[in-house]
Amino acid sequence: MNALVSRRAIVIEAESGARLIGHGGDPGTRELREFLTRNRVSHHFIDLDGSDPTAPTPDGRPLAEDDLPLLIGGDKILRAPTILEAATALNLRAPNKTAKKAWDTLIVGGGPGGLGAAVYAVTEGLSTMMIDSTALGGQASTSSRIENYLGFPAGISGSELAERAIAQARRFGLRTAVPERALSLRHEDGRYVVALDSGDELAARTVVLATGASYRQLPVDGCAELNGAGVFYAATLVEARMCGSGAVAVVGGGNSAGQASIFLSGTAEKVFLLLRGGDLGASMSQYLVDKIEAIENIEVLLHTEVREIHGDAVLAGLTVEDKRAGGRRDLDVGGLFIFIGADPCTEWLDGQLAKDDDGFLLTGGELDVTHLDVDPINGGRPSMPLETSLPGVFAVGDGRAGSIKRVASAVAEGSMSVSLVHQYLASQAALGRS
Ligand SMILES: Cc1cc2nc3c(=O)[nH]c(=O)nc-3n(C[C@H](O)[C@H](O)[C@H](O)COP(=O)(O)OP(=O)(O)OC[C@H]3O[C@@H](n4cnc5c(N)ncnc54)[C@H](O)[C@@H]3O)c2cc1C
Repeated sequence: MNALVSRRAIVIEAESGARLIGHGGDPGTRELREFLTRNRVSHHFIDLDGSDPTAPTPDGRPLAEDDLPLLIGGDKILRAPTILEAATALNLRAPNKTAKKAWDTLIVGGGPGGLGAAVYAVTEGLSTMMIDSTALGGQASTSSRIENYLGFPAGISGSELAERAIAQARRFGLRTAVPERALSLRHEDGRYVVALDSGDELAARTVVLATGASYRQLPVDGCAELNGAGVFYAATLVEARMCGSGAVAVVGGGNSAGQASIFLSGTAEKVFLLLRGGDLGASMSQYLVDKIEAIENIEVLLHTEVREIHGDAVLAGLTVEDKRAGGRRDLDVGGLFIFIGADPCTEWLDGQLAKDDDGFLLTGGELDVTHLDVDPINGGRPSMPLETSLPGVFAVGDGRAGSIKRVASAVAEGSMSVSLVHQYLASQAALGRS
């Protein structure tokens, strides 16, 4: 396993394997590139906007603009593929998805919570399928360095942590499918059926929901239009390279913003860290505060908000305002990294599961009898910890009400959910419903 993981890392680092040819500034190309990167598909990107003087013509045909982005993997040449087409060609989507087979457990969401559940489920003999709408690894795989996860004293990149967890779970038989977005959940004939955006359905005796949360955008004109073109919600080498070596700005006061600032200070000439509040330590871990204060090319701007975002196709700069002093200032930055919190990815469960006012899934003791308006399949017993308002459906990680937004806690909840899955299956067997 060590050899396999190391070999994969070398292959990805060497950018061998598939080739992607396109314009770096084109949204479709960017989306496909991000999909390949986040799913750790080893590839080499040839940017026709960049310095590559000639475009290769792999099958002898001249390269037409309509062909772009062009994806070449083995003997397959895909012209302007959709993400789904690319994923199918790269064997990322599980074949024969059908509700005829009922898995012991279906995990929706492949972040740390889902992966934690997956490793324990497969090692404890449960037939397990895990789906993700974007990429296995979740938010954590966009983190350049996780320094507070147990057992990695030198830190580990989120994508490497995910890579290791996926290899570990697959070794014991985990099946995965990406990209597959869950659209609805229903109870039918003693099992749960999850409908997917591809039109397929999956059935399982239990479900672990690990769909996490998605980033909040800045409420400033032009911000959404420049997503991926200078405005980013993750700080990895991919985004850093897209910004070049000029100055960048990071918005946010939590650990994600702190980590991003430290990471970007190594590639950018200068990093402006923008905080609405007046205290860097208010919601950031002290070890990050100490590091930031020691790095010369990070300038912390307190009481500061972004007022204008400049640039049409690509970010060209910002105007920020010091709310306390009242002055405005232009920042000449080529990258804006936003880390201002997240909303739970639970809209698809509206009306199906009990949630709190912010949309996070209620579980265990957070539920009261008024939430349990579903058929009491298990005889109306009290919910187990992590169990949602549907018996046998568990919620773990950032999408759960009251969760601690950390990799370790998501992994821990994932592993804990498997023990509860076993308890639920045993209770069903005792009721003659296995
Ligand atoms: C940049 C960054 C740095 C961070 N650094 C640290 C750190 O150093 N230490 C730390 O402890 N924590 C860190 N965190 C927080 C940590 O990553 C999260 O707490 C953790 O990832 C939560 O795991 P999760 O499994 O609950 O959700 P996520 O990681 O968000 O994963 C959820 C997954 O579900 C998928 N999904 C969503 N909806 C659907 C659907 N309908 N169907 C199918 N799939 C769906 C998503 O695509 C996603 O992959 C960081 C976060 C970020 C963004």
